[in-house]
Amino acid sequence: MSEPVLFIVIPCYNEEEVLPETSKRILDKLMRMVKAGSVSDQSRVVFVDDGSRDKTWSLIEAYGAEDEHFNGVKLAHNRGHQNALFCGLMHSLGQCDCVVSMDADLQDDIEVLDQFVEKYKEGCEVVYGVRKARTTDTFFKRSTALAYYRFVGALGTQIVYNHADYRLLGSRALQALSEYREVNLFLRGIVPDIGYKTDVVYYDRGERFAGESKYPLKKMISFALEGITSFSVKPLELIMKLGMTITVLSVLALIYALVALLAGLPAVNAFAVGGSIFLSCGLVLDALGIIAIYVGKIYQETKDRPRFRIEKTVPEVPDSQKVKDKE
Ligand code: UDP
Ligand code: MG
Repeated sequence: MSEPVLFIVIPCYNEEEVLPETSKRILDKLMRMVKAGSVSDQSRVVFVDDGSRDKTWSLIEAYGAEDEHFNGVKLAHNRGHQNALFCGLMHSLGQCDCVVSMDADLQDDIEVLDQFVEKYKEGCEVVYGVRKARTTDTFFKRSTALAYYRFVGALGTQIVYNHADYRLLGSRALQALSEYREVNLFLRGIVPDIGYKTDVVYYDRGERFAGESKYPLKKMISFALEGITSFSVKPLELIMKLGMTITVLSVLALIYALVALLAGLPAVNAFAVGGSIFLSCGLVLDALGIIAIYVGKIYQETKDRPRFRIEKTVPEVPDSQKVKDKE
């Protein structure tokens, strides 16, 4: 087998502070891999500019002009990490044998790229990068992450523990991924759904090289919710189970109240009555809220809007040849 063509897809949102270092290190790594004969010289680094407002795109253009191993894709506006990453993967489809996705901030250790490629050569279509320890995370992030993985697992979404979006996909897995059309993208949940031979590579996740996290708490929470509601209807089943339990308990309480009335025991006090009205209102609204999340998703999915739109690429290609979503 000749050396595989490897594409490395890196979504970037306002990453002018890290890109000079990231591009230098990643090109150096890629060239070492080419020299060692592990990947083809046709391999590329694909930066996807997710509608940045800083100098990110002009840097990417400059890298592309300097070295043919750099490609760039500029999205027409900010579509979020998952969509930008998906766009980069679809851009690579058909041009490479395998693709590795990673973040721009050098948190993912690029030295394990060799192990990814080795596993690919052994026949794996999906290789997950799994972080060894979460020593660089705050206590808060570490414990919420653990609770989240447990919770999501219990609700039936398959996700790989301690794996973010650092992973290799072979061309068959990439082709399979292109067949998923949902606009509410949660790649960590979709990839395990693809199947094929899978393996894991362990790595140490470092600190962000420079700049700030582009995932504030608010985005993290909505991303976490996405992981549950995109893959599982268990919350809807739980509503029904909760409803049934409360109904049974209420019937028992009513029987008790009736017996108490007939036996001339003291009546139920007003505080308990008021409390239970508020409690049931709250529960009904919670249930409606959960249903509303799913209804909102159905609304978005039925519109079937494109997940990304490409404005420009490096090297420049005519509009007709640019990847379009859902074709
Ligand atoms: N990112 C993106 N679009 C966004 C937000 C983030 O493409 O709207 C990219 C960002 O440039 C980085 C990756 O997604 O390459 C992960 O973001 P970040 O490192 O800020 O997240 P964290 O590691 O803090 O979870
Ligand atoms: Mg990061």
